[in-house]
Amino acid sequence: MEKYDCPVCGTPFKQILPHPDEECECCGWAFDIYQYDHHDAKRCINIMSVNECREAWKNGKEFY
Ligand SMILES: [Zn+2]
Repeated sequence: MEKYDCPVCGTPFKQILPHPDEECECCGWAFDIYQYDHHDAKRCINIMSVNECREAWKNGKEFY
């Protein structure tokens, strides 16, 4: 079974398949299966792409 790690901060999600919209307990990234596979996708559950969120997280900035 596949386990999902947060693509932004690397923290594993607690559930095998997180619910859409379930937030990472560490950084707050909302789980979106499409964005999980497409790191440049914007305007899904998360407005910013995974790559942008990761950059913001690294720099201690907010993302949404
Ligand atoms: Zn996270």
